[in-house]
Amino acid sequence: MNLSHGRPFMALPGPSVIPDAVLQAMHRPAPDIYAPDLKELADSLIPDLCYVAQTDGSVAIYISNGHGVWEAALANTLAAGDTVLVPVTGAFGHGWADMATGLGIRTQIIDHGRTSPIDPEKVRAALLADTGQQIKAVLAVHVDTSTSVRSDIAQLRAVLDDVGHPALLMADCIASLACDEFHMDTYGADLMVAGCQKGLMVPPGLGFVFFNARAAEQRKSLPCVSRYWDWSPRIDAEMLYQYFGGTAPTHHLYGLRTALDMIRAEGLEAIWARHRTLAQAIWAAAEHWGQDGAFKLNIADPSVRSHAVTSAHLAPPDAHRLRDWCTREAGVSLGVGLGMSTPEDPNASGSFRLGHMGHVNTPMILGVIGTVETGLAALGIAHQSGGVSAAAKVLAAQ
Ligand SMILES: *Cc1c(COP(=O)(O)O)cnc(C)c1O
Repeated sequence: MNLSHGRPFMALPGPSVIPDAVLQAMHRPAPDIYAPDLKELADSLIPDLCYVAQTDGSVAIYISNGHGVWEAALANTLAAGDTVLVPVTGAFGHGWADMATGLGIRTQIIDHGRTSPIDPEKVRAALLADTGQQIKAVLAVHVDTSTSVRSDIAQLRAVLDDVGHPALLMADCIASLACDEFHMDTYGADLMVAGCQKGLMVPPGLGFVFFNARAAEQRKSLPCVSRYWDWSPRIDAEMLYQYFGGTAPTHHLYGLRTALDMIRAEGLEAIWARHRTLAQAIWAAAEHWGQDGAFKLNIADPSVRSHAVTSAHLAPPDAHRLRDWCTREAGVSLGVGLGMSTPEDPNASGSFRLGHMGHVNTPMILGVIGTVETGLAALGIAHQSGGVSAAAKVLAAQ
């Protein structure tokens, strides 16, 4: 019997579930891009985006995915031949470094493997060794969506200040914004990139670069910046097209307006607490299952786990079998393992990820936990049953 016919649930670490209100806001005929109301709508997004990032700085909006704002961040602050320090904690750190390489920027990578957050002491050592201050920026991924590890951005600021190194601190919050607690200004990030399709609950298509006065100064020191990526016209837009370097992403603006209204209404503190609690329920279930069998969370220390995504392991190829079963038999899609290939398991068939970012609540998370437990049982994968009850206990105690 197939029980998948109902509302499908994409438990993916992006794109995340789109709220009906966001979809409904986008469902409209093409608007007049020359009428004043669309410019006013775009203007209205800026303070709310800055609230979500917890910054008094600026934000430039791009019609792009996360990769686009990786490039935008670099294109506005660095030139070919410059050096960046990249403490890498998973596939996305490598991705940002690779984007820099493509722009002729030298990368100094500190590889932390697949199970650890950024070690501030390793960053300190690299900065101290850089006596000629060649390093122009530190590129740090807040939550690496492949490993689900969360690094402490404020600690990196403290190290930069301590060493007296002038490099810019840039954070990738594409997975974590509006999920995991983040305060751009008090954590001391000079620049931060995000996308709209994870915690912001909008279909993929908008990217954001937040930056402070120090980053803006560095932009001014560059002899030239690609016209399209240049953030200067985008932050002083007098006309709608200037925000976007061309035609506005009309329908995304309505969707984002509604998503930001929802975020304002719930409040960031409550949003962070909701993500934390739902993540703790998932961890409780996973740790319970793992008492018998191979089920294991990728990050052992709960204090450095993301609250937006969870990376987990089974004996290969059981993660692939489980994902396949959940999609086909139950209507729940789980994320593939990313950056988890090994010589023994070249297709990462022993790894998968659960996305729990954005528009998710108790029945959705209990539903996905229950579905995973059902799949484990149906496939005969060894586990200690009772994970759902373990999760329910966590939720009941809130
Ligand atoms: C999703 C993600 C990206 C890439 O975003 P795309 O929209 O797929 O280009 C980069 N960094 C992190 C941390 C992400 O989660």
